[in-house]
Amino acid sequence: MNRPKLREYVKPKHIKDYPVGPCYTAGHLVTENADWRTEKPVVESTKCTGCFYCYLCCPEGVIYKEGKAVDIDYAFCKGCGICARVCPKKAVKMIRKEKNHGR
Ligand code: SF4
Ligand code: SF4
Repeated sequence: MNRPKLREYVKPKHIKDYPVGPCYTAGHLVTENADWRTEKPVVESTKCTGCFYCYLCCPEGVIYKEGKAVDIDYAFCKGCGICARVCPKKAVKMIRKEKNHGR
């Protein structure tokens, strides 16, 4: 399972150095979540069965196995809430996040 990786952005020096097509290989991001998320998903590990359906639906690919349950990489989660909506066990709650109070 591939999670996003942070990669340094190097500005091309010349027009011929600009890539044709996508700027980076899929799965590489140049910045972490810039704290614009208003809600964050929290997994209740006692309810989670580890079915991994939320991983399949997450548009960012930031859900990963943690023991028998799953956890979330908050460095890249955008707080869309899809994981909470699709979880058949209602094991993910979206928690309102106060601005600049960390991840
Ligand atoms: S969909 Fe729900 S029960 Fe399944 S792995 Fe995700 S959080 Fe756990
Ligand atoms: S809130 Fe969205 S981006 Fe974050 S883990 Fe859930 S589905 Fe993925």
